Amino acid sequence: MKRPILIHPDPRLKKVAPPVPDLSDDLRALADDMLETMYAAPGIGLAAPQIGVDARVIVLDCVKGEGEAPRPVAMFNPEIVAKSDMLNVYEEGCLSIPDQYADVERPAEVTVRWIDRDGKERQEDFDGLWATCVQHEIDHLNGVLFIDYLKPLKRQLITRKMVKLKKDRAREKA
Ligand SMILES: [Zn+2]
Repeated sequence: MKRPILIHPDPRLKKVAPPVPDLSDDLRALADDMLETMYAAPGIGLAAPQIGVDARVIVLDCVKGEGEAPRPVAMFNPEIVAKSDMLNVYEEGCLSIPDQYADVERPAEVTVRWIDRDGKERQEDFDGLWATCVQHEIDHLNGVLFIDYLKPLKRQLITRKMVKLKKDRAREKA
């Protein structure tokens, strides 16, 4: 089931989410809903707080090439256990901040540990777009948005645009 995505500014996007308990069918269903919502958007990553769920769950699929098989990944309680000194700049966007993009510098490679949908602990190294995306999504679990890395003026400008977008959308619904 597709879920509505919260738009910044929203206090639910600024909270530190608590870890999830042992894997359950409810949590697997949540991850399935998140993947469906992400693909429909379309996006390459989504964190549970973005659909108003206060839990450390993220989904991602950064396969970009035409005709390449999708690679949906669901991570429960993901944790960055190592990061490279080498940095990488990507132009980032966010489904909670529609149509706004900005360069963000992050470690180029990260090692992430997480619980998979079978309840098994996994660990993997990520680089390129996957590294940027997984760091962006884990940030969401800590109440951090990509615009928090920008200069205050730029951040305020984007936030004002989002306030207006939300007003316009509320008016359309009314
Ligand atoms: Zn985001």
